[in-house]
Amino acid sequence: TVEHGKLYMLQTRNGKRTATAAIKIACDLIDEGMKTEEEALLMIDPKQLDALLHPQFDAAALKAATPVASALAASPGAACGKIVFTAEDAVEQGQAGEKVVLVRLETSPEDIEGMHFSQGILTVRGGMTSHAAVVARGMGTCCVSGCGAIKMDEANKKFTLNGREYHEGDYISLDGTTGNIYGEALPTVPASTEGGYFGRIMELSDKYRTLQVRTNADTPKDAAQAVAFGAEGIGLCRTEHMFFDPDRIAAIREMICSDTVEQRKAALSKLEPMQQGDFEKLYEALEGKHVNIRFLDPPLHEFVPTEEKDIELLAEAQGKTVEDIKAIIAGLHEFNPMMGHRGCRLAVTYPEIAEMQTEAVIKAAIKVNKAHPDWHIVPEIMIPLVGEIKELKFVKKTVVETADRIIAEEGADLKYKVGTMIEIPRAALTADKIAEEAEFFSFGTNDLTQMTFGFSRDDAGKFLGSYYENKIYENDPFARLDQEGVGQLVKLAAEKGKSVRPDIVLGICGEHGGDPTTIEFCHNVGLTYVSCSPFRVPIARLAAAQAAIKQK
Ligand code: PEP
Ligand code: MG
Repeated sequence: TVEHGKLYMLQTRNGKRTATAAIKIACDLIDEGMKTEEEALLMIDPKQLDALLHPQFDAAALKAATPVASALAASPGAACGKIVFTAEDAVEQGQAGEKVVLVRLETSPEDIEGMHFSQGILTVRGGMTSHAAVVARGMGTCCVSGCGAIKMDEANKKFTLNGREYHEGDYISLDGTTGNIYGEALPTVPASTEGGYFGRIMELSDKYRTLQVRTNADTPKDAAQAVAFGAEGIGLCRTEHMFFDPDRIAAIREMICSDTVEQRKAALSKLEPMQQGDFEKLYEALEGKHVNIRFLDPPLHEFVPTEEKDIELLAEAQGKTVEDIKAIIAGLHEFNPMMGHRGCRLAVTYPEIAEMQTEAVIKAAIKVNKAHPDWHIVPEIMIPLVGEIKELKFVKKTVVETADRIIAEEGADLKYKVGTMIEIPRAALTADKIAEEAEFFSFGTNDLTQMTFGFSRDDAGKFLGSYYENKIYENDPFARLDQEGVGQLVKLAAEKGKSVRPDIVLGICGEHGGDPTTIEFCHNVGLTYVSCSPFRVPIARLAAAQAAIKQK
């Protein structure tokens, strides 16, 4: 307003701009001398970069559409396709050129191929760290998870959502950025980082950030994508994801159903060359950059067959009866599998698993180093779910003895590191002791959040909605790190770790590693790197730069 010849600004707000506009405006303001590089970088919302990296809905079509439901925005982007209910149908129809959206109660590792052929994934159950959410983010595929409003009828390939029935072949559209679900076909526009502005913002981010950015990847394809986005290494390779290929699952099932150490070793020896081959490909994709390999983590029941025909095949291969196999499977049942026989507890019970994985990691590194003498790969072996120093010592002994034996046998000059995840509150509280044995820590904030809050990462979605409505929580603690509680454990463990081992490498590999607010926290508490899914690497680079600029 103008009053007595004086101009007053009564209110200002940020000009709304698309991601493409935001990065161009930032570059223009620098070029026109209106903003410094630091100021211009702070003007871009890192999360907006998602819009450049994933397909989006046509803006006009989206405006005209009304969502039929909303659930967790588990992996960004827009997807439109015909509904399928099984991974097999997704593969079959996807291969035939059909665009499909896979709708499941929840996904399991057996669905991975189907997920690859889907435009998007919609699940009834599961939170931000559920299998569907984590795997879809890794692939860069849109995912909306935890839509409890769906009444699923998998047997008849249909579901009901808010009074309407959806059948196989019906069109559905998902917005993985907002979590909205549309019961119709909405046109999408492809991702685009063309124009040079994106590359310039990334270069500027690298100029100002001090935090390294790594990626969570367990396939050479995902790893190569992450490197193309600027990842400086792998911060987490979940080796169990390599066990689900049809040619491996039989061997791991044989291992689980073995009665003796010898039988177990025989099954593991079938897996070893395959693991070695996987690691060689990962090292190749990373071209000498850090590769952190996390040893087997999930409870073994995740690998056993559920279908009768698979149980029969396993019985035949093991020379056992179907009843024997069913009894073994029943014996693996746990009331609380996430707090059960998993992580390093597997290697304590079955050291031969750690032995096989060490052999594969070391042999692969020696081989790739020979082929590329300038790369100097130093493998990082990460032991999961440690809560007690003696556990780590126990498993590390197997790792070191095996690694040193192979290095000597091969006459190689290979360095390697052994470290641990900090994902149990007790590990954080005793991190000074743990640092005596661990050369690095990687904060597994998915489990650390689960165990600190005391609620399940897979089931919390059932009640978190009421917590937001009642303003008890503002955010999903599995998406944005709870700095007040879980963050204290991270900070304490980082300090305790450094007090014993000043050069300790500190990273984060939980899903929070790609969240800008968490990245700022990680910078402020002095972590070395954040590790996130490949498509979040650019977001992490910008967020890390912003954290450094703000701190300055
Ligand atoms: C974690 O717990 O944060 C983690 C990265 O491991 P996972 O999600 O595989 O349990
Ligand atoms: Mg974990």
